[in-house]
Amino acid sequence: MTMRLPRREWFRQFGAAAAAATVLPVFDDSAAGSPVPLVRLNRNESAYGPSEKAKTALREAIAEACRFPEDEDELRAAIARHHNIHPENVTLGCGSTEIFRMAAEAWLVPRKNLVVAEPTYSAISDAARVVDAEVRRVPLTHAYAHDLESMLSRSDSRTGLFYICNPNNPTGSLTSKSEIEAFLQQVPETARVILDEAYHEYVSPSGAYASWVSRAASDPRLVVTRTFSKIHGLAGLRVGYAISSAENAERLSARRLPMSVSSVAVRAAGASLSDSAYIKKIAALNENHRQEFFNQANARMLRWLDSQANFVLMAVGRPGNEVAEILRAKGILVASGFPRFPQYIRVSLGLPEEMRAFWRVWDAAMPHHPM
Ligand code: PLP
Repeated sequence: MTMRLPRREWFRQFGAAAAAATVLPVFDDSAAGSPVPLVRLNRNESAYGPSEKAKTALREAIAEACRFPEDEDELRAAIARHHNIHPENVTLGCGSTEIFRMAAEAWLVPRKNLVVAEPTYSAISDAARVVDAEVRRVPLTHAYAHDLESMLSRSDSRTGLFYICNPNNPTGSLTSKSEIEAFLQQVPETARVILDEAYHEYVSPSGAYASWVSRAASDPRLVVTRTFSKIHGLAGLRVGYAISSAENAERLSARRLPMSVSSVAVRAAGASLSDSAYIKKIAALNENHRQEFFNQANARMLRWLDSQANFVLMAVGRPGNEVAEILRAKGILVASGFPRFPQYIRVSLGLPEEMRAFWRVWDAAMPHHPM
């Protein structure tokens, strides 16, 4: 039978029943009978969605959707106030993905190289390839931190960019403040460091971790990126930003697509930024759910990497792609196939009912998992 149910409706109809069942119902969505994925734990989105303030701003902005965006400067000013820096230190982008593209055009042309960890978030390497830059990959340390010394030693006079993702995707691991500090002292003046803090708000307070936003405003080698796609729950709107020196910001924004952030996105992002109580609430929920995930994995004797983000990389004892495929057939989407972690899956933390669905499907579909 062909059937498509919105996620919320699926939970309304099957949430309670599925809680008691061992296997989730799977819906056929095409003549070929391919199952409809129902629980999206594969892209590290916020399962909680936007704040009420952001939703109200969005609704109000719709009436003005006939106008070209005019409020970008307000959003830049609000971001600057939020970080206690100046608007000229802020560059907006259509997600941080646009910032990576601008950075690649600004600092990897002609035919320079980018030094990144492996594995890490791939968007900047994709941008580097488009401008024909070489991508040099350096494995993470045994503690899953960026191996900054080796990254430095892989660099040369043609290195235009280093990329540090902190916390790192897909491992959720941190690179310490002191290591980054030592690294920054040694980065050649001709190179820039893109420090991606997409998951910053999820990090549990710790002396070993620091944001580099304030430093980026004055350090000519540093560009920090942030996004509204994660804890703000606005991934579909595509808003990100870079914090850098005014000079670097000028160089970036010269490569920006004009008006690349829509008027509705600007309004929603501004409203979300002002709702720090909501962000704190989601961070606290995420911390609890992360711990619950670790507990559930421990109960099944599964190995996981300690995460400071809204996802967990977990060892599955067989090819992660195979496991992801099995889960997908049961309506659960997870990510897999990360370099150097072929036998792992990355599970984004969803709503409690989504996580219960994940473990129910896991128990039903992986009964022979090696303990
Ligand atoms: N940076 C990292 C490390 C990510 O994992 C993601 C999303 O998965 C992003 C940035 C988001 O990019 P954008 O702001 O373009 O949505």
